[in-house]
Amino acid sequence: MVSETRLTPDAFVYPMFVCTGEGVRKEVRSMPGVFNLSVDQAVIEAREVHALGVPSVILFGLPDKKDEVATGAWADDGIVQQATRAIRREVPGLVLMGDVCLCEYMSHGHCGIVKPTLPRSLGAAAIDVRDAKGVVVARTKKEKEKAMDEFVAVATRLAETNYEIVNDASLELLAKTSVSLAKAGIDIIAPSDMMDGRVAAIRRALDEAGFINTPILSYAAKFASGFYGPFREAADSAPQFGDRRSYQMDGANLREAMREIEADVEEGADMIMVKPAMPYLDVIAAARERFDLPLAAYQVSGEYAMIEAAARNGWIERERVMMESLVSIRRAGASIILTYYATNAHE
Ligand SMILES: [Zn+2]
Repeated sequence: MVSETRLTPDAFVYPMFVCTGEGVRKEVRSMPGVFNLSVDQAVIEAREVHALGVPSVILFGLPDKKDEVATGAWADDGIVQQATRAIRREVPGLVLMGDVCLCEYMSHGHCGIVKPTLPRSLGAAAIDVRDAKGVVVARTKKEKEKAMDEFVAVATRLAETNYEIVNDASLELLAKTSVSLAKAGIDIIAPSDMMDGRVAAIRRALDEAGFINTPILSYAAKFASGFYGPFREAADSAPQFGDRRSYQMDGANLREAMREIEADVEEGADMIMVKPAMPYLDVIAAARERFDLPLAAYQVSGEYAMIEAAARNGWIERERVMMESLVSIRRAGASIILTYYATNAHE
């Protein structure tokens, strides 16, 4: 009666990873109890989730093929689109959230379109080439070998291009993906890419396609985090080069997080999210104070994996820590919690 914070299943959203094939139920190595599911299995799981009183699932996709324009994200027969239609049909009443990002569908694993840029210093490379010209005047075998090594080193340096994320071209694909998901039956569009201006771009595209009532839950404050490790295995979405620090947020910055959320709200976000949850409870609390929209927090894969691993070693009490972790997120101010414990955590 005097408890200030309550955990009820209606606050939870259960994340699901859908893959191609049939009868597939493949456990994610670093996330015991979490599976890659083919559409038929996803339907079964969605039915169970719904029966437990959990109102919503968020769908992530593992496509068969990846490419440089993330075709699998926005194709009519994309894996999430297929799963959405099936769950919509078989489990009416379950609220379907669609994660919108490109990393799971890009061959390079980044959240946007990637453009190679020139090496940092062409001038330095030119000087290296001049110095390596010894290769042609070398006489002895040893001289030749040494010169050849230098030459290879220079060539390698020249071949090493840097890259950058092309923000605005990425927005087009994100908008296209959102419309495709809404068409398939997704109720809530949840962009997680962290490109600038994406909420506005998605809102515009949804409205133009007639989905004026489809809300956007924006991953407004998504921090670059080591806690995403196991997810990248679950969704097979690790970047093949570089990292995501150029578009995800710096974990040291609370005020910047408020600015990011504010920008998303101004662009038309209907709900906002902080991710990860436990290392950023202060951000959740600050966001709760400052914004009046529904506030979600994502208890991410690493948070789940830590609890599971320690519990398996007998170092902590699983149930107790699970509930404590979720209560803390709720107490910090999140009204919606995305968690792999959605089907377990029931008082
Ligand atoms: Zn991404």
